[in-house]
Amino acid sequence: MNIDDKLNKLKYNCDTVSHLNPCAADCKECKSKICTIICPASVYEWDEENRKLIVNYENCLECGACKIICEKKSLKWDYPRNGKGVTFKLG
Ligand code: SF4
Ligand code: SF4
Repeated sequence: MNIDDKLNKLKYNCDTVSHLNPCAADCKECKSKICTIICPASVYEWDEENRKLIVNYENCLECGACKIICEKKSLKWDYPRNGKGVTFKLG
């Protein structure tokens, strides 16, 4: 089973607002855009035309890697509200 098959088995109860909030000004200055590389769920995409980070927060696995690795240490990261977000199933 590849990673895409595994991701398709997860359940999501999406919040209506993003729990991931990057600083737009810092993202413009960020050289690495490392969040777009490190995220296992491809949550982040850099829109070069509009010089803006797109955040597909609905796909987040809540692993926390982007918060740790953010080049500017300015990514505001919370869990989704009221127990929403991803659900992992054992087995
Ligand atoms: S690594 Fe941090 S500063 Fe850089 S683009 Fe991602 S969220 Fe923005
Ligand atoms: S917490 Fe993990 S899955 Fe969610 S956006 Fe950050 S790196 Fe991606």
